[in-house]
Amino acid sequence: MKNINKLEFQSILKKIESAYDKEFSEEKADLYFDNLKDFDLDVIRLACREMVRTRELKSIPTIGEIRKEASFIRNERRSRQNKSVYCKHCSGTGWIIVEEKDGMKYSTAYRCDCKNGQSISKDSMSYKEAMIKYGLPPLNQPEPSYPIITAEDIIADPGKVYSGVRVELICKNCHKIYYVPYHSRVTGREIMECYMGAENFRKLIEEGYAEHLGGDNLCELCYEDEGRKKGFWI
Ligand SMILES: [Zn+2]
Ligand SMILES: [Zn+2]
Repeated sequence: MKNINKLEFQSILKKIESAYDKEFSEEKADLYFDNLKDFDLDVIRLACREMVRTRELKSIPTIGEIRKEASFIRNERRSRQNKSVYCKHCSGTGWIIVEEKDGMKYSTAYRCDCKNGQSISKDSMSYKEAMIKYGLPPLNQPEPSYPIITAEDIIADPGKVYSGVRVELICKNCHKIYYVPYHSRVTGREIMECYMGAENFRKLIEEGYAEHLGGDNLCELCYEDEGRKKGFWI
């Protein structure tokens, strides 16, 4: 998964800009891109999240600082490769991403309490600790009865803001309907971009490719199966 997407990379830089209330010039953004594009995008994202979350840096992280954190995450990942177990909370990565809430300005990542998370450095906060400190909901609590929306609802009004919603999607493997809950405030556009990518979503809106709905997503059971087949988890 090399050759990272520049647009998606820019969206990470935007988050940093917003966290530090500063803007990157176009030249500087290009410089960051050129010097970080050898990492996987999700590694960069995680590295930036960590740095913004811990706020150890008083100013915008430099390329060197991001590289250092990203290398650390990449090495940690490599050493855990093929040893991860299936976990629906962290998808075998050991990290639980909590999407941004009002006032937090940035989404954060916490260590999962499963076997995958146990091999991550204890310097990062675990979800359990974050639950107590920030009042996050327990991971296994029953799904609240959020209203259900479909992709059609989202296309009809992409800018609509939801706070607590279940999105109806169709699994590309078993073609069954499944639901994905969103607990914090999110717009329809953000939900769909997350499932199909910004570019595909734009196409869908402009050209009406209804068959792209749900993108390449799998329901939980199929996702678990596929991960086993590929040897991602035992
Ligand atoms: Zn986990
Ligand atoms: Zn399925």
